[in-house]
Amino acid sequence: MKIEIKGLNKIYPNGNQALKNINLEFGTGMFGLLGPNGAGKSTLMRILVTLMKPTSGMVMVDGMDIQKHRKEIRSMLGYLPQDFRFFTSLKTWEFLDYSGSLAGMKNKRERLVEVDRLLDQVGLLEVRDRQANRLSGGMKRRLGIAQALIGNPRIIIVDEPTTGLDPDERIRFRNILSQLSQNDVTIVLSTHIVGDISSTCQGMALLNRGELVFSGSPENLVKQAEKHVFKLKLAQREYDIVKEKYNVISTLPVENGWEVQIVSDEIPEFDSEAIAPNIEHAYVFYMEHKLHADLSE
Ligand code: ADP
Repeated sequence: MKIEIKGLNKIYPNGNQALKNINLEFGTGMFGLLGPNGAGKSTLMRILVTLMKPTSGMVMVDGMDIQKHRKEIRSMLGYLPQDFRFFTSLKTWEFLDYSGSLAGMKNKRERLVEVDRLLDQVGLLEVRDRQANRLSGGMKRRLGIAQALIGNPRIIIVDEPTTGLDPDERIRFRNILSQLSQNDVTIVLSTHIVGDISSTCQGMALLNRGELVFSGSPENLVKQAEKHVFKLKLAQREYDIVKEKYNVISTLPVENGWEVQIVSDEIPEFDSEAIAPNIEHAYVFYMEHKLHADLSE
């Protein structure tokens, strides 16, 4: 499976340019799309699932232009939209059964087997007979992923699936996705939460204001921030200066002052030590530091 995004632009009728010349390529496995609110993630997802046309540019799936082959593409797709909601008096299993028939599963017996298999996979088998709209927030999201999975899609697109979930549910959700990614499918996960992007993502992209600012592996993103993250021990007076001058990532009160982590191009003139970056550091390095530095050049 190969997905190629070429020169993609989207300008909404009101003139908002949500995507600016996006070029991106990824294959089987999990692909993470990270960016702050308004970056253009949902717009890109909606184009990928053929719910919206780009203003220009194209998306190819295994060499097929998705605008020209919408029907085939849709039959390969499972989609969990950002605002996945349902107003239904159906029971949980009935809801999934209905989603299965919409996804083209005609054989009722096979469908029912698949419904219970998926309910088990997302940990909802015990509540299969509960009315779907009475499930908890986390359970509803898991039912959302189950409806995206029914019909055996080869491409699974999940838009901000962890928003509003508590940490337990978020970890659970991430595990479900990483298990799925072992199955020779392509998963595109969009998120504004850095922690959702883990080493289980083979590839990732960073979007900011409609522009692609990074694409590569998460390890690669982290590598870019190497020698740019410092830990400083500061007295209050120094801390006030550092706050003004640098991008501060974290602040910890210690005896007689503060322990602060910053990103910076140069070694700061305070008592400092370079530390190994993590993905959160790398995100700040890119979004708040590098972009501003590039803009002011
Ligand atoms: P994200 O999913 O990263 O939060 P979106 O794709 O929702 O970003 O939005 C990207 C930009 O496009 C934002 O500036 C948003 O306000 C704008 N936008 C989104 N949908 C529409 C629309 N239907 N009409 C006009 N502008 C829109």
